[in-house]
Amino acid sequence: MTNQARHTPTLLVHGGAWAIPADAAAAHEAGVRNALETGYKILARGGTALDAVEAAVTVLEDDPTFDAGRGSFLTSDGRVQLDALLMDGGRMKAGGVACVERLRNPIQAARLVLEQSPHVYFVGAGAEQFAASHGMALIDNGELVLDRERERLTAAQAREAAGLADITFSGHILHDDKSPETAFPHRAPMDSHDTVGAVALDAEGNLAAATSTGGTLNKTPGRVGDSSLIGCGCYADNLSAAVSLTGWGEPIMKLVLGKWATDRVAGGTAPEVAAREAIAYLFNRLEGHGGIILLGPDGRFGLAHNTPAMAWGLATPAGLHTGLTA
Ligand code: ASP
Repeated sequence: MTNQARHTPTLLVHGGAWAIPADAAAAHEAGVRNALETGYKILARGGTALDAVEAAVTVLEDDPTFDAGRGSFLTSDGRVQLDALLMDGGRMKAGGVACVERLRNPIQAARLVLEQSPHVYFVGAGAEQFAASHGMALIDNGELVLDRERERLTAAQAREAAGLADITFSGHILHDDKSPETAFPHRAPMDSHDTVGAVALDAEGNLAAATSTGGTLNKTPGRVGDSSLIGCGCYADNLSAAVSLTGWGEPIMKLVLGKWATDRVAGGTAPEVAAREAIAYLFNRLEGHGGIILLGPDGRFGLAHNTPAMAWGLATPAGLHTGLTA
Protein backbone atom coordinates (compact mmCIF):
# COMPACT_ATOMS: atom_id res chain seq x y z
CA MET A 1 0.00 0.00 0.00
CA THR A 2 1.34 3.41 -0.87
CA ASN A 3 0.67 6.31 1.41
CA GLN A 4 -1.51 8.12 -1.08
CA ALA A 5 -3.85 10.96 -0.16
CA ARG A 6 -7.33 9.62 0.37
CA HIS A 7 -9.12 12.94 0.30
CA THR A 8 -9.68 15.37 -2.53
CA PRO A 9 -8.26 18.76 -1.57
CA THR A 10 -11.10 21.28 -1.75
CA LEU A 11 -11.29 24.99 -1.02
CA LEU A 12 -14.47 27.03 -1.01
CA VAL A 13 -14.48 30.78 -0.37
CA HIS A 14 -17.05 33.57 -0.21
CA GLY A 15 -16.84 37.33 -0.43
CA GLY A 16 -20.21 38.32 0.99
CA ALA A 17 -23.87 37.95 0.11
CA TRP A 18 -25.90 41.02 -0.87
CA ALA A 19 -27.15 42.92 -3.90
CA ILE A 20 -23.67 43.18 -5.43
CA PRO A 21 -24.02 46.00 -7.96
CA ALA A 22 -22.99 45.40 -11.58
CA ASP A 23 -20.05 47.78 -11.30
CA ALA A 24 -18.62 45.82 -8.35
CA ALA A 25 -19.17 42.33 -9.80
CA ALA A 26 -15.81 41.99 -11.59
CA ALA A 27 -13.86 43.11 -8.50
CA HIS A 28 -15.71 40.57 -6.35
CA GLU A 29 -15.02 37.70 -8.74
CA ALA A 30 -11.38 38.71 -9.17
CA GLY A 31 -10.90 38.93 -5.40
CA VAL A 32 -12.43 35.53 -4.84
CA ARG A 33 -10.27 34.04 -7.62
CA ASN A 34 -7.07 35.48 -6.10
CA ALA A 35 -8.00 34.00 -2.75
CA LEU A 36 -8.66 30.60 -4.32
CA GLU A 37 -5.35 30.62 -6.19
CA THR A 38 -3.36 31.45 -3.07
CA GLY A 39 -5.20 29.03 -0.80
CA TYR A 40 -5.35 26.16 -3.25
CA LYS A 41 -1.60 26.27 -3.93
CA ILE A 42 -1.16 25.30 -0.29
CA LEU A 43 -3.62 22.40 -0.51
CA ALA A 44 -2.19 21.20 -3.84
CA ARG A 45 1.29 20.79 -2.37
CA GLY A 46 -0.07 18.81 0.57
CA GLY A 47 -0.48 21.71 3.01
CA THR A 48 -3.12 21.86 5.69
CA ALA A 49 -6.70 23.05 5.41
CA LEU A 50 -5.97 25.48 8.23
CA ASP A 51 -3.07 27.11 6.35
CA ALA A 52 -5.20 27.26 3.18
CA VAL A 53 -8.16 29.05 4.78
CA GLU A 54 -5.88 31.47 6.62
CA ALA A 55 -4.03 32.32 3.39
CA ALA A 56 -7.24 32.69 1.37
CA VAL A 57 -8.81 34.99 3.96
CA THR A 58 -5.61 37.04 4.22
CA VAL A 59 -5.88 37.76 0.47
CA LEU A 60 -9.50 38.81 0.91
CA GLU A 61 -8.65 41.02 3.92
CA ASP A 62 -5.96 42.74 1.84
CA ASP A 63 -8.40 43.39 -1.01
CA PRO A 64 -10.29 46.66 -0.34
CA THR A 65 -13.27 45.35 -2.30
CA PHE A 66 -14.48 43.45 0.75
CA ASP A 67 -15.72 44.27 4.24
CA ALA A 68 -12.67 42.78 5.96
CA GLY A 69 -9.31 44.34 6.74
CA ARG A 70 -8.59 47.59 4.88
CA GLY A 71 -11.68 48.99 3.20
CA SER A 72 -14.12 47.67 5.81
CA PHE A 73 -17.34 49.44 6.74
CA LEU A 74 -16.98 52.09 9.43
CA THR A 75 -18.42 52.24 12.91
CA SER A 76 -20.78 55.09 13.73
CA ASP A 77 -17.75 57.08 14.92
CA GLY A 78 -15.81 56.52 11.71
CA ARG A 79 -13.36 53.76 12.65
CA VAL A 80 -12.64 50.29 11.34
CA GLN A 81 -13.27 47.56 13.96
CA LEU A 82 -12.50 44.02 12.85
CA ASP A 83 -13.59 40.53 13.96
CA ALA A 84 -12.15 37.18 12.78
CA LEU A 85 -12.25 33.49 13.69
CA LEU A 86 -10.29 30.48 12.54
CA MET A 87 -11.08 26.87 13.45
CA ASP A 88 -9.19 23.63 12.90
CA GLY A 89 -11.62 20.73 12.70
CA GLY A 90 -8.90 18.10 13.09
CA ARG A 91 -7.41 19.32 16.36
CA MET A 92 -10.65 21.04 17.47
CA LYS A 93 -8.72 24.23 18.10
CA ALA A 94 -10.07 27.71 17.51
CA GLY A 95 -8.78 31.26 17.71
CA GLY A 96 -10.76 34.46 17.51
CA VAL A 97 -10.36 38.21 17.87
CA ALA A 98 -12.97 40.94 17.96
CA CYS A 99 -13.11 44.74 17.91
CA VAL A 100 -9.49 45.06 16.84
CA GLU A 101 -8.57 48.38 15.28
CA ARG A 102 -4.81 48.19 14.79
CA LEU A 103 -4.25 44.92 12.95
CA ARG A 104 -4.06 44.73 9.16
CA ASN A 105 -4.87 40.99 9.11
CA PRO A 106 -7.05 39.91 12.03
CA ILE A 107 -7.22 36.36 10.67
CA GLN A 108 -3.46 36.08 11.33
CA ALA A 109 -4.02 37.26 14.88
CA ALA A 110 -6.73 34.60 15.19
CA ARG A 111 -4.19 32.01 14.05
CA LEU A 112 -1.78 33.15 16.75
CA VAL A 113 -4.53 32.79 19.34
CA LEU A 114 -5.28 29.29 18.03
CA GLU A 115 -1.64 28.18 18.12
CA GLN A 116 -0.07 30.15 20.95
CA SER A 117 -2.67 30.65 23.62
CA PRO A 118 -4.53 28.41 26.07
CA HIS A 119 -7.48 30.76 25.46
CA VAL A 120 -9.74 30.90 22.44
CA TYR A 121 -10.87 34.49 22.11
CA PHE A 122 -9.44 37.96 22.69
CA VAL A 123 -11.07 41.35 22.21
CA GLY A 124 -10.02 44.96 21.71
CA ALA A 125 -6.77 46.23 23.15
CA GLY A 126 -6.03 42.84 24.77
CA ALA A 127 -6.24 41.14 21.38
CA GLU A 128 -3.95 43.74 19.84
CA GLN A 129 -1.45 43.37 22.67
CA PHE A 130 -1.51 39.60 22.32
CA ALA A 131 -0.85 39.88 18.57
CA ALA A 132 1.91 42.45 19.07
CA SER A 133 3.59 40.29 21.70
CA HIS A 134 3.73 37.54 19.06
CA GLY A 135 5.30 39.74 16.42
CA MET A 136 2.40 41.37 14.59
CA ALA A 137 2.71 45.05 13.65
CA LEU A 138 0.23 47.48 15.22
CA ILE A 139 -0.86 50.06 12.66
CA ASP A 140 -2.81 53.29 12.81
CA ASN A 141 -6.56 52.72 12.34
CA GLY A 142 -6.54 55.39 9.62
CA GLU A 143 -4.55 53.01 7.38
CA LEU A 144 -7.62 50.77 7.22
CA VAL A 145 -10.09 53.57 6.40
CA LEU A 146 -10.97 54.41 2.79
CA ASP A 147 -12.62 57.65 1.57
CA ARG A 148 -15.19 55.43 -0.15
CA GLU A 149 -16.24 54.19 3.29
CA ARG A 150 -16.31 57.67 4.83
CA GLU A 151 -18.77 58.64 2.09
CA ARG A 152 -20.81 55.48 2.59
CA LEU A 153 -21.03 56.17 6.33
CA THR A 154 -22.10 59.77 5.76
CA ALA A 155 -24.85 58.57 3.41
CA ALA A 156 -26.01 55.88 5.87
CA GLN A 157 -26.14 58.37 8.73
CA ALA A 158 -28.11 60.83 6.58
CA ARG A 159 -30.60 58.04 5.79
CA GLU A 160 -30.81 57.18 9.47
CA ALA A 161 -31.41 60.82 10.40
CA ALA A 162 -34.20 60.91 7.81
CA GLY A 163 -35.73 57.80 9.37
CA LEU A 164 -35.01 55.68 6.29
CA ALA A 165 -32.44 53.25 7.67
CA ASP A 166 -34.91 50.43 8.08
CA ILE A 167 -36.46 50.64 4.70
CA THR A 168 -33.54 50.72 2.30
CA PHE A 169 -31.04 48.16 1.14
CA SER A 170 -28.83 50.19 -1.16
CA GLY A 171 -31.97 50.79 -3.16
CA HIS A 172 -32.49 47.05 -3.66
CA ILE A 173 -35.36 44.94 -2.44
CA LEU A 174 -34.00 41.55 -1.49
CA HIS A 175 -35.55 38.53 -3.04
CA ASP A 176 -34.83 34.88 -3.42
CA ASP A 177 -35.55 33.37 -6.77
CA LYS A 178 -34.20 29.97 -5.74
CA SER A 179 -36.57 28.58 -3.20
CA PRO A 180 -40.28 29.09 -2.81
CA GLU A 181 -39.81 28.45 0.91
CA THR A 182 -37.82 31.63 1.35
CA ALA A 183 -39.21 33.79 -1.45
CA PHE A 184 -39.92 37.19 0.00
CA PRO A 185 -39.80 40.88 -0.52
CA HIS A 186 -37.75 41.84 2.52
CA ARG A 187 -36.44 45.13 3.79
CA ALA A 188 -33.20 45.07 5.67
CA PRO A 189 -31.63 47.52 8.09
CA MET A 190 -28.19 47.64 6.51
CA ASP A 191 -26.43 48.25 3.27
CA SER A 192 -24.52 45.13 2.36
CA HIS A 193 -22.71 42.06 3.55
CA ASP A 194 -19.19 41.88 2.22
CA THR A 195 -17.71 39.68 4.94
CA VAL A 196 -15.24 37.06 3.70
CA GLY A 197 -14.75 33.41 4.55
CA ALA A 198 -13.22 30.11 3.53
CA VAL A 199 -13.65 26.41 4.25
CA ALA A 200 -11.21 23.71 3.21
CA LEU A 201 -10.58 19.96 3.22
CA ASP A 202 -6.98 18.82 2.93
CA ALA A 203 -5.45 15.60 1.62
CA GLU A 204 -5.23 14.24 5.16
CA GLY A 205 -8.98 14.66 5.58
CA ASN A 206 -8.85 17.63 7.93
CA LEU A 207 -11.43 20.40 7.73
CA ALA A 208 -10.89 24.07 8.62
CA ALA A 209 -12.91 27.27 8.43
CA ALA A 210 -12.16 30.99 8.65
CA THR A 211 -14.34 34.13 8.63
CA SER A 212 -13.26 37.77 8.79
CA THR A 213 -15.29 40.97 8.80
CA GLY A 214 -15.49 44.67 9.44
CA GLY A 215 -19.05 44.02 10.60
CA THR A 216 -22.06 46.06 9.63
CA LEU A 217 -22.07 49.61 8.33
CA ASN A 218 -22.58 52.30 10.99
CA LYS A 219 -22.39 49.74 13.80
CA THR A 220 -22.07 51.01 17.35
CA PRO A 221 -18.44 50.76 18.51
CA GLY A 222 -17.93 47.54 20.45
CA ARG A 223 -20.65 45.62 18.60
CA VAL A 224 -19.61 42.06 17.70
CA GLY A 225 -21.49 40.14 15.02
CA ASP A 226 -21.76 36.48 14.13
CA SER A 227 -18.62 36.21 12.00
CA SER A 228 -16.06 35.61 14.73
CA LEU A 229 -18.28 33.74 17.19
CA ILE A 230 -17.77 30.00 17.27
CA GLY A 231 -20.72 28.13 15.82
CA CYS A 232 -22.34 31.30 14.51
CA GLY A 233 -20.44 32.65 11.48
CA CYS A 234 -17.72 30.01 11.51
CA TYR A 235 -17.21 26.42 12.66
CA ALA A 236 -15.23 23.31 11.72
CA ASP A 237 -15.17 19.76 13.05
CA ASN A 238 -13.87 16.75 11.13
CA LEU A 239 -16.80 14.79 12.56
CA SER A 240 -19.39 17.08 10.98
CA ALA A 241 -18.43 19.85 8.50
CA ALA A 242 -16.77 23.24 8.01
CA VAL A 243 -18.88 26.35 7.55
CA SER A 244 -18.58 30.10 7.00
CA LEU A 245 -21.52 32.50 6.89
CA THR A 246 -22.18 36.05 5.88
CA GLY A 247 -25.25 38.16 6.32
CA TRP A 248 -27.22 39.96 8.95
CA GLY A 249 -25.26 38.95 12.04
CA GLU A 250 -27.81 39.31 14.81
CA PRO A 251 -30.27 36.67 13.54
CA ILE A 252 -27.39 34.33 12.60
CA MET A 253 -26.06 34.58 16.17
CA LYS A 254 -29.42 33.93 17.77
CA LEU A 255 -29.78 30.71 15.77
CA VAL A 256 -26.12 29.63 16.22
CA LEU A 257 -26.55 28.90 12.57
CA GLY A 258 -23.09 27.61 11.66
CA LYS A 259 -23.28 24.84 14.24
CA TRP A 260 -26.91 24.18 13.29
CA ALA A 261 -25.80 23.52 9.71
CA THR A 262 -22.79 21.35 10.60
CA ASP A 263 -24.90 19.30 13.02
CA ARG A 264 -27.28 18.51 10.18
CA VAL A 265 -24.39 17.24 8.07
CA ALA A 266 -23.26 15.09 11.02
CA GLY A 267 -26.81 13.74 11.16
CA GLY A 268 -26.63 12.57 7.54
CA THR A 269 -28.02 15.52 5.56
CA ALA A 270 -26.02 16.29 2.41
CA PRO A 271 -24.18 19.64 2.67
CA GLU A 272 -25.95 21.01 -0.40
CA VAL A 273 -29.29 20.34 1.30
CA ALA A 274 -28.16 21.49 4.76
CA ALA A 275 -26.91 24.79 3.30
CA ARG A 276 -30.30 25.52 1.74
CA GLU A 277 -32.11 24.45 4.90
CA ALA A 278 -29.94 26.75 7.03
CA ILE A 279 -30.78 29.79 4.93
CA ALA A 280 -34.46 28.85 4.87
CA TYR A 281 -34.38 28.47 8.68
CA LEU A 282 -32.67 31.87 9.01
CA PHE A 283 -35.46 33.53 7.10
CA ASN A 284 -38.41 31.51 8.33
CA ARG A 285 -37.47 31.82 11.99
CA LEU A 286 -36.12 35.38 12.18
CA GLU A 287 -36.55 36.94 8.75
CA GLY A 288 -32.78 37.00 8.46
CA HIS A 289 -30.82 37.11 5.25
CA GLY A 290 -27.37 35.99 4.26
CA GLY A 291 -25.27 33.33 2.63
CA ILE A 292 -23.44 30.13 3.63
CA ILE A 293 -20.66 27.87 2.38
CA LEU A 294 -20.59 24.37 3.88
CA LEU A 295 -18.10 21.55 3.25
CA GLY A 296 -18.35 17.98 4.48
CA PRO A 297 -15.49 15.60 5.35
CA ASP A 298 -16.13 13.67 2.12
CA GLY A 299 -15.65 16.80 -0.03
CA ARG A 300 -19.35 17.33 -0.73
CA PHE A 301 -20.28 20.94 -0.35
CA GLY A 302 -23.23 23.31 -0.36
CA LEU A 303 -23.73 27.00 -1.13
CA ALA A 304 -26.89 28.99 -0.51
CA HIS A 305 -28.04 32.57 -0.02
CA ASN A 306 -31.30 34.47 0.09
CA THR A 307 -29.77 37.73 -1.08
CA PRO A 308 -29.70 38.68 -4.76
CA ALA A 309 -26.06 37.61 -5.05
CA MET A 310 -23.17 35.95 -3.22
CA ALA A 311 -19.56 36.07 -4.38
CA TRP A 312 -18.09 32.57 -4.14
CA GLY A 313 -15.33 30.39 -5.50
CA LEU A 314 -14.43 26.69 -5.51
CA ALA A 315 -11.06 25.05 -6.12
CA THR A 316 -10.54 21.29 -6.52
CA PRO A 317 -8.07 19.23 -8.58
CA ALA A 318 -10.57 19.72 -11.45
CA GLY A 319 -9.99 23.48 -11.51
CA LEU A 320 -11.18 26.83 -10.23
CA HIS A 321 -14.72 28.19 -10.50
CA THR A 322 -16.16 31.48 -9.35
CA GLY A 323 -19.70 32.83 -9.37
CA LEU A 324 -22.00 35.51 -8.09
CA THR A 325 -25.01 33.35 -7.40
CA ALA A 326 -25.25 29.87 -5.94
N1 ASP B 1 -22.25 38.93 9.36
C1 ASP B 1 -21.49 40.15 9.45
C2 ASP B 1 -21.84 40.85 10.73
O1 ASP B 1 -23.01 40.88 11.10
C3 ASP B 1 -21.73 41.08 8.31
C4 ASP B 1 -21.50 40.47 6.96
O2 ASP B 1 -21.65 39.27 6.76
O3 ASP B 1 -21.12 41.21 6.05
O4 ASP B 1 -20.96 41.41 11.34
